[in-house]
Amino acid sequence: MKGVYTLIIFLKTNTLLKIGKLGIHTFPRGIYTYTGSAMGIGALSLEGRIKRHLRKNKKMKWHIDYLLNSDNAQIQSVIYAETNEKFECKVSQEIEKLKAAHVLVKRFGASDCKEGCQAHLHYLTLGPSQVQELVLKIYRKLGLEPKLFYNVNYSSNSSSVCLSRNNFISHL
Ligand SMILES: [Zn+2]
Repeated sequence: MKGVYTLIIFLKTNTLLKIGKLGIHTFPRGIYTYTGSAMGIGALSLEGRIKRHLRKNKKMKWHIDYLLNSDNAQIQSVIYAETNEKFECKVSQEIEKLKAAHVLVKRFGASDCKEGCQAHLHYLTLGPSQVQELVLKIYRKLGLEPKLFYNVNYSSNSSSVCLSRNNFISHL
């Protein structure tokens, strides 16, 4: 499957993190969205990419890996849609337009973005279910058919990460 996805992430407490070449930043407690796309097959497919995000203890490759690697970060849910077109910047820019959305680290997840996004990671001063509703609305507005996956069994304990990965597979 090819497509676009938005991770809804909860950061339990204010966290100081080094994000690769972007350096050290403080991330306040709260809800974040991270939007990406996956247009390949296998590990580069949409399923492969989301499964990777749900896994802890991996080699740091993307900016988001540094944030998700923190024990304070939990993926609460994933919104995704199947599409052969690249929608990541369109979705990201719609999120950026929301009053409650803030760019905390410029270029985060957007170092190769050519469509003028400030970042593909946004901090939202709203609760997770409100953010979820807004993101679903954005997907529909863009003509996408969003699906929602709740990562409810998530914890940093590896057995439940396996469980949530299996849940994601059976969800598809
Ligand atoms: Zn972009």
